[in-house]
Amino acid sequence: MARIVMKFGGTSVADLDRIRNVAARVAREVVRGHEVAVVVSAMSGTTNQLVGWCQSLAPLHDAREYDTVVATGEQVVTGLLAIALQERGVDARSWQGWQIPIETDDAHGKARIMGIDGADLIRRMGLGQVAVVSGFQGIGPDRRITTLGRGGSDTSAVALAAALKADRCDIYTDVDGVYTTDPRIVSKARKLDKIAYEEMLELASVGAKVLQTRSVELAMNERVRVRVLSSFVEMDPNDPLDGDKAGTLVVDEDEIVEKQMVAGIAYSRDEAKITLRRIPDRPGIAAAIFGALADHNVNVDMIVQNISADGMTDLTFTVGKADLPRAQATLAEAQPQIGHAEAIADPSVAKISVVGTGMRSHAGVANTMFRALADKAINIQVISTSEIKVSVLIAADYTELAVRALHTAYCLDAA
Ligand code: ASP
Ligand code: MG
Repeated sequence: MARIVMKFGGTSVADLDRIRNVAARVAREVVRGHEVAVVVSAMSGTTNQLVGWCQSLAPLHDAREYDTVVATGEQVVTGLLAIALQERGVDARSWQGWQIPIETDDAHGKARIMGIDGADLIRRMGLGQVAVVSGFQGIGPDRRITTLGRGGSDTSAVALAAALKADRCDIYTDVDGVYTTDPRIVSKARKLDKIAYEEMLELASVGAKVLQTRSVELAMNERVRVRVLSSFVEMDPNDPLDGDKAGTLVVDEDEIVEKQMVAGIAYSRDEAKITLRRIPDRPGIAAAIFGALADHNVNVDMIVQNISADGMTDLTFTVGKADLPRAQATLAEAQPQIGHAEAIADPSVAKISVVGTGMRSHAGVANTMFRALADKAINIQVISTSEIKVSVLIAADYTELAVRALHTAYCLDAA
């Protein structure tokens, strides 16, 4: 017998039939003798609509009232799922964040969970009751409803799993696991049976949108075993272990026996490149540029600076595509302090990243990447590395070609 938190995303609860299907999956775990708590998201599309309503009334609306509005999407689903479970004879009860309570800080719209008292839920689970909990929401120190930021119900589920000392947190979504790369681009992408927390964290932050980054961070810190699986794959009624071997398990590196050098390849087209031409090469220049950008809330990702002989240098860096206009305005305003001759923006770039804990112990990982890209005549514009990741910036037109070439070069193609 295990204690399991099951989380269902928006597409898994998008209508009443799907909610019935979720109830069947939950009931199956209960029948197997497991203690179960469920975390749900809003029906897909609901949160976007609620956000849109707030924006239509006032672009700069009060964040506390925004939370009051957008938190409602989850509440509906908890009630409906509890009813569907009761219909199947399962003793189920709905819970909103404030009722548990899931305590957060006061950053309305992007709150962080500060603590969850799991004692009452643990007692009720011991009596066979299934708690159906609203994801994405909590209660702040001002006793008002808070929300955790978009995609936050993954984080709710992992935090609840930690508080309940659950054996596992199963995240049901519309894909059947974590892949070596985007299967829409590479038909030979393979589903991974296991992936290390660190790898999942790097992949989540460089564009693989399976789990909210924050939830992976939390799972890693709290050592919560997370499984990503699909709620749309048919259940096999004759296989008692069906489900236990499905999906991808996100776990500690030590649990992964056959370590691959590279676990996965991610890409992001959400970047833009800026080159500052002919800046005076003297102390304080980087501080002037990146200080001004930080003051205007522009996040900078990759950076390269050239050496140059005549005391002038070029500097290239990337920002989020959505931040590009703000970055350009900031640089224009700070031009007298920075002294650059021109600022060239290029939004047609993509960042390709290879990720794997195997890089810690294998040499030549980056070189395999450069070789594979060179063989396809793809020019590398910027490079950055971390302990378990190598990223390059290339022209956006070559994204798919690059991802496919790298998938083959690192021997990730399915047979
Ligand atoms: N319903 C919320 C959203 O759409 C939370 C979630 O789905 O994780 O962002
Ligand atoms: Mg989600």
